[in-house]
Amino acid sequence: MRVVLLGPPGAGKGTQAQLIAEQLGVPAISTGDIFRANVSGQTELGQKAKAYMDAGDLVPDEITVAMVKDRLAEPDAEEGFLLDGFPRTISQAEQLRSSLGELGQSLDRVIELVVDEDELVRRLSGRRMLVDGEMVQRDDDKPETVRHRLGVYREQTAPLSGFYDSEGRLSRIDAIGSVEEVTARAMKALGVDKPGQSSSD
Ligand code: ADP
Repeated sequence: MRVVLLGPPGAGKGTQAQLIAEQLGVPAISTGDIFRANVSGQTELGQKAKAYMDAGDLVPDEITVAMVKDRLAEPDAEEGFLLDGFPRTISQAEQLRSSLGELGQSLDRVIELVVDEDELVRRLSGRRMLVDGEMVQRDDDKPETVRHRLGVYREQTAPLSGFYDSEGRLSRIDAIGSVEEVTARAMKALGVDKPGQSSSD
Protein backbone atom coordinates (compact mmCIF):
# COMPACT_ATOMS: atom_id res chain seq x y z
CA MET A 1 0.00 0.00 0.00
CA ARG A 2 1.23 3.51 -0.87
CA VAL A 3 0.19 6.08 1.67
CA VAL A 4 0.88 9.75 2.43
CA LEU A 5 0.43 11.08 5.94
CA LEU A 6 -0.50 14.75 5.96
CA GLY A 7 -0.87 17.09 8.91
CA PRO A 8 0.57 20.18 10.58
CA PRO A 9 3.71 20.19 12.74
CA GLY A 10 2.76 18.80 16.13
CA ALA A 11 -0.11 16.63 14.87
CA GLY A 12 1.81 13.47 15.78
CA LYS A 13 2.76 12.48 12.24
CA GLY A 14 6.10 10.93 13.20
CA THR A 15 4.62 8.71 15.91
CA GLN A 16 1.65 7.65 13.79
CA ALA A 17 3.85 7.08 10.74
CA GLN A 18 5.93 4.49 12.61
CA LEU A 19 2.89 2.66 13.97
CA ILE A 20 0.85 2.69 10.77
CA ALA A 21 3.82 1.64 8.62
CA GLU A 22 4.58 -1.23 10.96
CA GLN A 23 0.99 -2.49 10.77
CA LEU A 24 1.00 -2.18 6.98
CA GLY A 25 4.43 -3.81 6.66
CA VAL A 26 5.87 -0.94 4.62
CA PRO A 27 8.78 1.45 5.36
CA ALA A 28 7.97 4.82 7.00
CA ILE A 29 9.83 7.48 5.04
CA SER A 30 10.14 10.82 6.85
CA THR A 31 11.78 13.67 4.96
CA GLY A 32 12.30 15.55 8.25
CA ASP A 33 14.17 12.55 9.71
CA ILE A 34 16.29 12.13 6.56
CA PHE A 35 17.20 15.84 6.65
CA ARG A 36 18.02 15.74 10.38
CA ALA A 37 20.22 12.65 9.90
CA ASN A 38 22.08 14.48 7.13
CA VAL A 39 22.49 17.60 9.28
CA SER A 40 23.97 15.63 12.18
CA GLY A 41 26.12 13.59 9.79
CA GLN A 42 27.32 16.88 8.25
CA THR A 43 26.74 15.62 4.72
CA GLU A 44 26.54 17.92 1.72
CA LEU A 45 22.77 17.50 1.67
CA GLY A 46 22.64 18.38 5.38
CA GLN A 47 24.70 21.51 4.84
CA LYS A 48 22.33 22.64 2.11
CA ALA A 49 19.20 21.96 4.18
CA LYS A 50 20.27 23.25 7.61
CA ALA A 51 19.65 26.98 7.24
CA TYR A 52 16.14 26.43 5.87
CA MET A 53 15.28 23.99 8.63
CA ASP A 54 16.59 26.22 11.42
CA ALA A 55 14.47 29.08 10.10
CA GLY A 56 11.38 26.84 9.90
CA ASP A 57 11.26 27.28 6.12
CA LEU A 58 10.84 24.54 3.54
CA VAL A 59 13.96 23.15 1.96
CA PRO A 60 13.75 23.97 -1.79
CA ASP A 61 11.81 21.47 -3.90
CA GLU A 62 14.72 20.53 -6.15
CA ILE A 63 16.71 19.25 -3.17
CA THR A 64 13.76 17.56 -1.49
CA VAL A 65 12.20 15.92 -4.55
CA ALA A 66 15.50 14.40 -5.72
CA MET A 67 16.10 13.01 -2.23
CA VAL A 68 12.63 11.41 -2.08
CA LYS A 69 12.95 9.95 -5.58
CA ASP A 70 16.20 8.25 -4.56
CA ARG A 71 14.63 6.90 -1.39
CA LEU A 72 11.55 5.56 -3.20
CA ALA A 73 13.82 3.78 -5.69
CA GLU A 74 15.25 1.60 -2.91
CA PRO A 75 14.06 -2.01 -2.97
CA ASP A 76 12.18 -1.89 0.35
CA ALA A 77 9.79 0.74 -1.06
CA GLU A 78 8.90 -1.26 -4.14
CA GLU A 79 5.75 -2.82 -2.69
CA GLY A 80 4.63 0.17 -0.71
CA PHE A 81 5.59 2.99 1.64
CA LEU A 82 4.24 5.52 4.05
CA LEU A 83 5.45 9.06 3.40
CA ASP A 84 5.62 11.44 6.38
CA GLY A 85 6.41 15.10 5.69
CA PHE A 86 6.28 14.75 1.90
CA PRO A 87 4.72 16.14 -0.21
CA ARG A 88 4.50 19.54 1.46
CA THR A 89 3.70 21.73 -1.56
CA ILE A 90 1.40 21.29 -4.56
CA SER A 91 4.48 21.17 -6.77
CA GLN A 92 5.96 18.31 -4.70
CA ALA A 93 2.62 16.48 -4.95
CA GLU A 94 2.59 16.86 -8.73
CA GLN A 95 6.16 15.63 -9.01
CA LEU A 96 5.37 12.66 -6.76
CA ARG A 97 2.38 11.81 -8.94
CA SER A 98 4.45 11.89 -12.12
CA SER A 99 7.38 9.90 -10.74
CA LEU A 100 5.02 7.21 -9.42
CA GLY A 101 3.20 7.32 -12.77
CA GLU A 102 6.45 6.56 -14.58
CA LEU A 103 6.64 3.35 -12.54
CA GLY A 104 3.00 2.51 -13.23
CA GLN A 105 2.17 3.28 -9.60
CA SER A 106 -0.14 5.64 -7.75
CA LEU A 107 -1.02 6.54 -4.17
CA ASP A 108 -3.70 4.45 -2.52
CA ARG A 109 -4.67 6.83 0.25
CA VAL A 110 -3.81 10.14 1.90
CA ILE A 111 -4.50 10.39 5.62
CA GLU A 112 -4.74 13.90 7.05
CA LEU A 113 -4.33 14.27 10.81
CA VAL A 114 -6.57 17.11 12.00
CA VAL A 115 -5.68 19.09 15.16
CA ASP A 116 -6.62 22.69 15.98
CA GLU A 117 -3.87 25.29 16.07
CA ASP A 118 -3.99 26.13 19.82
CA GLU A 119 -3.35 22.48 20.62
CA LEU A 120 -0.47 22.37 18.13
CA VAL A 121 1.30 25.34 19.73
CA ARG A 122 0.87 23.73 23.17
CA ARG A 123 2.28 20.40 21.97
CA LEU A 124 5.23 21.81 20.05
CA SER A 125 6.47 24.17 22.74
CA GLY A 126 6.47 21.30 25.25
CA ARG A 127 8.07 18.78 22.90
CA ARG A 128 11.54 17.38 23.71
CA MET A 129 13.59 14.67 22.08
CA LEU A 130 16.36 12.40 23.29
CA VAL A 131 19.84 13.27 21.96
CA ASP A 132 22.95 11.59 23.43
CA GLY A 133 21.01 10.64 26.53
CA GLU A 134 19.65 14.15 27.13
CA MET A 135 16.19 15.60 26.56
CA VAL A 136 16.60 18.63 24.31
CA GLN A 137 14.31 20.96 22.40
CA ARG A 138 14.57 20.77 18.62
CA ASP A 139 15.98 24.06 17.30
CA ASP A 140 12.88 24.56 15.20
CA ASP A 141 10.53 23.99 18.17
CA LYS A 142 11.38 27.42 19.67
CA PRO A 143 8.12 29.46 19.97
CA GLU A 144 8.95 31.96 17.19
CA THR A 145 9.92 29.21 14.75
CA VAL A 146 6.84 27.16 15.69
CA ARG A 147 4.57 30.05 14.72
CA HIS A 148 6.47 30.46 11.47
CA ARG A 149 6.25 26.73 10.65
CA LEU A 150 2.50 26.78 11.26
CA GLY A 151 2.21 29.73 8.86
CA VAL A 152 4.24 27.90 6.24
CA TYR A 153 1.97 24.89 6.72
CA ARG A 154 -1.20 26.96 6.34
CA GLU A 155 0.03 28.63 3.16
CA GLN A 156 1.98 25.91 1.37
CA THR A 157 0.90 22.52 2.69
CA ALA A 158 -2.77 22.87 3.73
CA PRO A 159 -3.85 23.25 0.05
CA LEU A 160 -2.79 19.59 -0.45
CA SER A 161 -5.91 18.62 1.44
CA GLY A 162 -8.09 19.94 -1.43
CA PHE A 163 -5.68 18.55 -4.03
CA TYR A 164 -6.02 14.98 -2.75
CA ASP A 165 -9.70 15.36 -1.87
CA SER A 166 -10.46 16.18 -5.50
CA GLU A 167 -8.65 12.97 -6.49
CA GLY A 168 -10.93 11.10 -4.07
CA ARG A 169 -7.99 9.82 -2.04
CA LEU A 170 -8.26 11.88 1.14
CA SER A 171 -9.36 10.69 4.59
CA ARG A 172 -9.36 13.36 7.30
CA ILE A 173 -9.11 11.92 10.78
CA ASP A 174 -9.36 13.49 14.22
CA ALA A 175 -5.86 13.37 15.75
CA ILE A 176 -6.94 14.30 19.28
CA GLY A 177 -7.03 11.29 21.58
CA SER A 178 -4.64 8.57 22.67
CA VAL A 179 -1.92 7.41 20.28
CA GLU A 180 -3.71 4.03 19.96
CA GLU A 181 -7.06 5.65 19.20
CA VAL A 182 -5.58 7.78 16.44
CA THR A 183 -3.76 4.78 14.91
CA ALA A 184 -7.01 2.79 14.96
CA ARG A 185 -8.83 5.62 13.13
CA ALA A 186 -6.09 5.70 10.51
CA MET A 187 -6.17 1.92 10.00
CA LYS A 188 -9.94 2.09 9.62
CA ALA A 189 -9.59 4.83 7.00
CA LEU A 190 -7.10 2.60 5.19
CA GLY A 191 -9.61 -0.24 5.26
CA VAL A 192 -7.37 -2.30 7.53
CA ASP A 193 -9.49 -3.05 10.57
CA LYS A 194 -8.17 -5.09 13.43
CA PRO A 195 -11.35 -5.83 15.39
CA GLY A 196 -9.72 -8.53 17.52
CA GLN A 197 -7.06 -6.21 18.91
CA SER A 198 -7.24 -4.98 22.50
CA SER A 199 -7.87 -1.25 22.78
CA SER A 200 -6.93 -0.98 26.44
CA ASP A 201 -3.13 -0.83 26.13
P1 ADP B 1 7.37 19.09 11.35
O1 ADP B 1 6.33 18.39 10.52
O2 ADP B 1 7.26 18.80 12.80
O3 ADP B 1 7.50 20.54 11.05
P2 ADP B 1 9.51 17.64 9.95
O4 ADP B 1 10.39 16.78 10.75
O5 ADP B 1 8.55 16.99 9.02
O6 ADP B 1 8.80 18.56 11.01
O7 ADP B 1 10.39 18.69 9.08
C1 ADP B 1 11.36 19.52 9.67
C2 ADP B 1 11.92 20.47 8.63
O8 ADP B 1 12.51 19.72 7.56
C3 ADP B 1 10.87 21.35 7.94
O9 ADP B 1 10.56 22.50 8.67
C4 ADP B 1 11.61 21.67 6.62
O10 ADP B 1 12.61 22.64 6.79
C5 ADP B 1 12.30 20.36 6.30
N1 ADP B 1 11.42 19.50 5.44
C6 ADP B 1 10.89 18.29 5.77
N2 ADP B 1 10.15 17.79 4.77
C7 ADP B 1 10.19 18.71 3.77
C8 ADP B 1 9.62 18.79 2.47
N3 ADP B 1 8.81 17.81 1.99
N4 ADP B 1 9.87 19.88 1.72
C9 ADP B 1 10.66 20.85 2.17
N5 ADP B 1 11.23 20.86 3.39
C10 ADP B 1 11.00 19.80 4.19
